[in-house]
Amino acid sequence: MTQKITVIRGDGIGPEIMDATLYVLDQLGAGLEYEFAEAGVAALEKHGDLMPKETLDSIARNTVALKSPLSTPIGGGFTSINVSLRRHFDLYANVRPAISFPNTKSRYENINLITVRENTEGAYLAEGQEVSADGETAISGTRITRKGSERIVRYAFELARSTGRKKVTAVHKANIIKSTSGLFLAVAREVAAKYPDIEFQEMIVDNACMQLVMRPEQFDILVTTNLFGDIISDLCAGLVGGLGLAPGANIGEHAAIFEAVHGTAPDIAGKGIANPCALLLAAAQMLDHIGQPQNAERLRKAIVATLEAKDSLTGDLGGSGTTMGFAQAIATRL
Ligand code: ATP
Repeated sequence: MTQKITVIRGDGIGPEIMDATLYVLDQLGAGLEYEFAEAGVAALEKHGDLMPKETLDSIARNTVALKSPLSTPIGGGFTSINVSLRRHFDLYANVRPAISFPNTKSRYENINLITVRENTEGAYLAEGQEVSADGETAISGTRITRKGSERIVRYAFELARSTGRKKVTAVHKANIIKSTSGLFLAVAREVAAKYPDIEFQEMIVDNACMQLVMRPEQFDILVTTNLFGDIISDLCAGLVGGLGLAPGANIGEHAAIFEAVHGTAPDIAGKGIANPCALLLAAAQMLDHIGQPQNAERLRKAIVATLEAKDSLTGDLGGSGTTMGFAQAIATRL
């Protein structure tokens, strides 16, 4: 049976890494059918809209999208397309695995953790941001809800169960920010009580950052609010060697979008030398999500084996390979 997914080829290096990723997915035989849709600068130039309605309709119809990086023009009052997509589809869970890979620049070799970041509330409110007329005082609000906290913590525990992981750490600052972070922590405790098979740990965010840098192997799944999650997930990407190998998923009840964490890399766009691994790893997350965990594992193992063999690696990984050459080297190891 084939499954149709929406594919957004994106801007900058986006089309190159997407072509490489679709090539590997085809070799994997995942039975995917692609519905191409446009967004970003490519869509603005063609349709006068950064996020055309047809693209939103396509994602709504297929419920799963694989997306390359998009650029939002600076100035002109454009809201970030990624932020708009998360709002439009209420993609409340930002799921970012950080896993050590061989032959990458990393201080550690034994990291295997996932950050689950709440994506829709917390300190990321568009409304209520104010700077006083004299420019001396600025105010912004934070909103945490029981519903928002409950669904993100439940997502983290369900992810632990479905992937055989053993521990969930709730990261907070409830000792100081007693209202918002306090509510998040209280709800996290309530949800944790319903999952006695999974170990639950609480950690204050500053300590969590120190522990992540000193002993990252102790973590399994981290769940936290929007701003802490933003910072921690990039910290974790840095721990395992940077953005070239960092995938991310944005998951809601009715749609899910899988992407590379890095941007459009305009400095190397069009040269065919970008590393396709982050998008390939996002595709592996997508395969897990659509019920193909065995194919997801085959894909991850092929990536690891290619890195281990140092076969056709791209420049960011110390090689001199091309985007498509790297993808072909991965495909031969499926
Ligand atoms: P944007 O404005 O879209 O965020 P950026 O250049 O500011 O673009 P990134 O695209 O994340 O931010 O790139 C940061 C650096 O990492 C650049 O030097 C870029 O070339 C490099 N880089 C990012 N992604 C890749 C990749 N997939 N392969 C190789 N190098 C990459």
